[in-house]
Amino acid sequence: MSATPASPDQPVGADQSVGSVQPVGPAKPVAFDPHDPLGLDDLLTDEDRAVRATMRQWAADRVLPYVAEWYERGELPGIRELARELGSLGALGMSLTGYGCAGASAVQYGLACLELEAADSGVRSLVSVQGSLAMYAIHRFGSEEQKQRWLPPMAAGETIGCFALTEPDHGSDPAGMRTYAKREAGGDWVLTGRKMWITNGSVAGVAVVWARTDEGIRGFVVPTDRPGFSAPEIKHKWSLRASVTSELVLDGVRLPADAVLPEAVGLRGPLGCLTHARYGIIWGAMGAARASFEAALDYARTREQFGRPIGGFQLTQAKLADMAVELHKGILLAHHLGTRMDAGRLRPEQVSFGKLNNVREAIEICRTARTILGANGISLEYPVMRHATNLESVLTYEGTVEMHQLVLGKALTGIDAFR
Ligand SMILES: Cc1cc2nc3c(=O)[nH]c(=O)nc-3n(C[C@H](O)[C@H](O)[C@H](O)COP(=O)(O)OP(=O)(O)OC[C@H]3O[C@@H](n4cnc5c(N)ncnc54)[C@H](O)[C@@H]3O)c2cc1C
Repeated sequence: MSATPASPDQPVGADQSVGSVQPVGPAKPVAFDPHDPLGLDDLLTDEDRAVRATMRQWAADRVLPYVAEWYERGELPGIRELARELGSLGALGMSLTGYGCAGASAVQYGLACLELEAADSGVRSLVSVQGSLAMYAIHRFGSEEQKQRWLPPMAAGETIGCFALTEPDHGSDPAGMRTYAKREAGGDWVLTGRKMWITNGSVAGVAVVWARTDEGIRGFVVPTDRPGFSAPEIKHKWSLRASVTSELVLDGVRLPADAVLPEAVGLRGPLGCLTHARYGIIWGAMGAARASFEAALDYARTREQFGRPIGGFQLTQAKLADMAVELHKGILLAHHLGTRMDAGRLRPEQVSFGKLNNVREAIEICRTARTILGANGISLEYPVMRHATNLESVLTYEGTVEMHQLVLGKALTGIDAFR
């Protein structure tokens, strides 16, 4: 071992006296970056960085200056304009190919989710539901006519989509759903039932609705201007306030025979879409965590108590260190899962692993950040409480913590605890 401590800028392994750990090529100084302590940027391509920069800039211009006010009002005003702008950036159905979609990699889609959720989970939810749920369902399970009809305007953000699986009495257990699609003699379908907690519902031009039929659970592409369709907005939410959440009422909605998604029979259809959307959440949650961590780090450096910055106290440093460790472990996990998805090797259990860990840790980071900000932590002038309360929804939707524990528990033990 070298007797002298390494210079802080000296990469580990560059110490020529350490016989077995010789660097390859000349050692370059490596600075410690508090915003990227593990050097995860090295994992990204130039194109990845360009996507990230574009989304970060858009969020900085179009969301961050206004989101606290939207949150306070419990609205996402200008959602149609925001959707069109996101469409023009290629962020809607971003990792899908053809039909006006950007065909980006899974890692790039993940980076976009992270940047959007660093602004607000509501905006990331708009993008996730549009691209990974509504568009993905049509892209993966739709007929060629359905894809041609719906995907280009959805990719452009001209038509907003929603995805309706949950019902008032069936959330974690969608197999019990009551919404029923009856096939009439002429081939038409008639949909009757209620869906609950549907993101984008009241502003959607098209709804992908999952319903029980005589041949199992099927998905339907429902134009929302059909007689019998209504989508009252759900108010009084204390989480995801800058997001439209709705009930869907399907009162004998008549649809032509070709409204059904031909390639989806049974729960495998909606569950496949959810796996895709959960993947984006794994990244997105780390965006909310990053924004809260950075707010806390900044505050800790500048807020003085007992005559010195609170960041100089060991207890505060322990909090910041633990937050940084979980934040960057989470981003590393997201990137790992993204590269598996790009290689076609991502399993649903691995997505459960990522969603369980990253949302749970992100909420913990936001809560710790809130303590560092003291009373200011509860103010909308800072983002941490908004992110923390948003993540309460993210913890529940697309499979609760408990559901992902059960998925992993089943994979680990081989025993199904769901029944
Ligand atoms: C803001 C928001 C937006 C949403 N957007 C959409 C959307 O766009 N589309 C959509 O279809 N849905 C959406 N949802 C609904 C969401 O997916 C459901 O809330 C979620 O699946 C949980 O269902 P639930 O609320 O009925 O809870 P329940 O299923 O009733 O669960 C209640 C509690 O019981 C636990 N539990 C249930 N079963 C078990 C078990 N076997 N073992 C252990 N614990 C169990 C759960 O983990 C949870 O803690 C949204 C929800 C929110 C809050």
